[in-house]
Amino acid sequence: MNNLDDKLMLQELTAVINRLEKLIADLKHPALSSSTQPEDTNPRLFSQWQKLLNGTKSQASSALLNAEHLAAELELQLLRLQNGHAKLARLQQLGRQKLSAAAYLLQQSGASPASDALLERLRLDDANHQVQLWQLLDYYQQALDDLLNRERQGEALQHQLCSRLQQLVEELHFSGPVAIELTKIRQQLLNPIAPAELPEVCLRLIDLTIEGVRFERSSAKQYLTKLYTDLEDVHQYAAITLSEEQSLYVARSHHSEHIAGELRAIGEHLFCQENAQLKADIEVRMRSINHILVQNQRLQAREQALLTRMTEMEQQIGFLKQEADNFRQQLSKQNDKLFVDSLTQIHNRAGMDQRLEIEYRQWLRDDKPLCIALLDIDYFKEINDKYGHLAGDKALRLIARTLQKSLRESDFVARFGGEEFTVLLNNVSQDNLETPLQKLREQVKKIPFRFKDQPVTITISLGATLFKAGDTIHSALERADQALYRAKHAGRDQLVID
Ligand code: GH3
Ligand code: MG
Ligand code: MG
Repeated sequence: MNNLDDKLMLQELTAVINRLEKLIADLKHPALSSSTQPEDTNPRLFSQWQKLLNGTKSQASSALLNAEHLAAELELQLLRLQNGHAKLARLQQLGRQKLSAAAYLLQQSGASPASDALLERLRLDDANHQVQLWQLLDYYQQALDDLLNRERQGEALQHQLCSRLQQLVEELHFSGPVAIELTKIRQQLLNPIAPAELPEVCLRLIDLTIEGVRFERSSAKQYLTKLYTDLEDVHQYAAITLSEEQSLYVARSHHSEHIAGELRAIGEHLFCQENAQLKADIEVRMRSINHILVQNQRLQAREQALLTRMTEMEQQIGFLKQEADNFRQQLSKQNDKLFVDSLTQIHNRAGMDQRLEIEYRQWLRDDKPLCIALLDIDYFKEINDKYGHLAGDKALRLIARTLQKSLRESDFVARFGGEEFTVLLNNVSQDNLETPLQKLREQVKKIPFRFKDQPVTITISLGATLFKAGDTIHSALERADQALYRAKHAGRDQLVID
C-alpha cells in the first residue's frame, strides 16, 4: 500500500466512523422505532455495515436485529474500527518519522542521489513491497549510521592522535636544529591535517627524537669532557699548592722551633750573669719573646687547620673528577650503541653516515684517496627460505665479523641494511684498491657454513668507487651502487670497480 492509499483509507475510515457514530446515536434515539431497518439508511453505508458484521462471529447477520442489539453490535464494530484507525495513523506517523530520520542521515552522508532514488522508489512501489522496503530502509539507515559513526570515530581518533602528538612534541625538550623542526611540526599539528599526512608526521617525529637524543648526547659528552679537563686542572693545581704549603709549613715549624731554642739558650745564658738590672731587663724581654712564641704556635695551628681543609677539598675534587669520568665513559658507551647494529655488532647505517661525513670532509680538505664499496650477499633469500631466518641471522653475523677481521684498523665497515654492507677504505689508490676488496670477497666465500648438516658456500658481490673531483657523498654512493648492480648482472661473486 503506498502513501496515497494510506491517506485515502484513513479518510474513508474517518468518514465511516463518523457515520457509524451518527447511526448509533440515531438508533438509541427513543423517537426512532425499534423496527427501523438498516435499509432505510444510506445504501452504501448499509452494505458496509453488513460487510463489517459478516466478518464477525456475531450472529447479528442471521438474526433479526432489533435497534438495541444493532446499536450494541455497531458500537463493538465502531470500537474495532477506531482501534484500526488509530493503529493505521500510528503506522503512518512512524513511517513519516522513519523517512525524515533516513532523509537526515542521507543528507548528512552527502549521498543525496542515492537517497533521492530510494525515496522515489518508496513513493512508487506498490503495497506488496512496502514491508520489505521499510526493512531495506532500516538496514540502509543502520549501515549509514555505522558509516557515519565510523567516520565520526575516525575523526575523533584522528583528533585524539593529533592532540597526543602535540602533547608529545611539547614534552620533547631538545635544543639546536631539532628544536626548530619540532616547533614547525607543532604548528602543523595545530592546523587541520589530512589523515594521510599523520603517519608521515609520526615518522618525522621519530626521526627527530632520535636525532635530538644524538645531539643532546654529543653536547653532554662535550660538556662532560670540558668539565673533566677543568676539574683535572683544578685538581692538579690544588695538589701542587697543597704539597708546597705542606713543605713550607714544615720548614716554618722547624725554623720557629730553631729560633725559639736559640732565644731560650741566649736568655738562659744571660740570666746566669750577676747584673740585677740586666736580669730584670732580660726577664721582661724573655716574657715578650715567650708571648711571641705562643702567638706563633697559634698561627701554626691555624695554618695546620687550613691545610687539613685544603686536603679535604683536594679529595673532593678528586672524587668529582672520578664521577665525571665515569659518567663520560657511560655516555660514550650509550652513544656508541646508537651507531651499532644490534644483530651483527658492527656499525649500523647511522654510524656509517657519521663516519662517511667525517671521511668526506677530510677527503675534501686533504684530497687523499677515499674508496666506498657496497657489498651485497648473493641469493640470500634462498638461505632464509631453505634453512630458516635464524640460519640467515647467523650467516649475517659471521659475514660481518669476517669483513671486519679482513680490514685494516683504519678502514670502516657497516651494515647498510638487510644483507648489504658498506666499506670505507682510506688512503688506497686506484692501483692497490682491488687487493683488499677481492680479499673481502674471498674471505667470505671461505667461511665454512653448515646448515642442516650440509656445507654451504655463501658469496658476496661488490661495487666500489673512489671519490672523484666534484663528487658528493650521494653521487659516489650512486656510482658504487651502479657498480654493484653490474657485478650482480655479471653473475655475482664478483667485484666491479668504477
Ligand atoms: P641477490 O643476489 O640479487 O642479492 O639476491 P638476494 O636473495 O640476496 O636478494 P633479495 O633482495 O631478493 O633478498 C634479500 C633477502 O635478505 C631477503 C630478506 O629476507 C633477507 N634479509 C634481509 N635482512 C635480513 C635479516 O636481518 N635477517 C635475515 N635472516 N634475513 C634478512
Ligand atoms: Mg640486497
Ligand atoms: Mg642479496
